Amino acid sequence: MNRRAFLASAGVALSLGVAGRRAASTPDALVVRVWFSESAATHDALEDRVEGYLGGALDEALDAATVEFAPSTVALPHEGGKASLGRDWPMRVAEGLVGLGEVDPVGDVNLLVTDGDPRRQPAGYARPHVAAATGGAYIARMPPVEERPTVVPYSVPAAATQLLLHEVGHALGATHAHGTARREGDALVASPMVGSYLWASERVREEQLADGNVCGGAYPSDDGASERRLDLRYADCAARALR
Ligand SMILES: [Zn+2]
Repeated sequence: MNRRAFLASAGVALSLGVAGRRAASTPDALVVRVWFSESAATHDALEDRVEGYLGGALDEALDAATVEFAPSTVALPHEGGKASLGRDWPMRVAEGLVGLGEVDPVGDVNLLVTDGDPRRQPAGYARPHVAAATGGAYIARMPPVEERPTVVPYSVPAAATQLLLHEVGHALGATHAHGTARREGDALVASPMVGSYLWASERVREEQLADGNVCGGAYPSDDGASERRLDLRYADCAARALR
């Protein structure tokens, strides 16, 4: 669903706030609006890290992207789980589109970041224009983006940070088939749309990566790859699929 269809799906009651905010940003810049759960909002560094890592990756992929933060936090009964991430949050965004509730959505991506445990499935969730990701406490522990290379050793904070890019990528139309992986010496490097699935069990890999890569590259095996690394920038294949 494109941006126009998404906004139209809300009917005629669309708040003027959406158009007003877009007009104020760079013409045609993609806007990701971010909400924190009440718990996630307690991590002082979180806003800076989301802006740095997500904003940096989108800027590189799309040339113009704005990450902005909602002024209010979101009260959640649970910080994780399918109901919170995959049902309640999209529902609140949909209600916001017709002027109900507290959430004031934008036309591109509406991202919720919670304090749920990113090691538990589902760690995140996405549908067109709506995304949710757990791991706020871990993302806040990442060093500032300017102190890191774009490819980093696997860690839970790095995986949670990459998950943001993964779910926002889905919300903008990219799939797991737009992910890539490459060998760098002894290391296997996963791009955001593949992420940790690269090292998942055979069964999960079959389920999630069965379509292969639509840009033509095969996923290298991890035979003999002693190190796991995560790329915190979108692969070219995914960048072309965004929007
Ligand atoms: Zn995914």
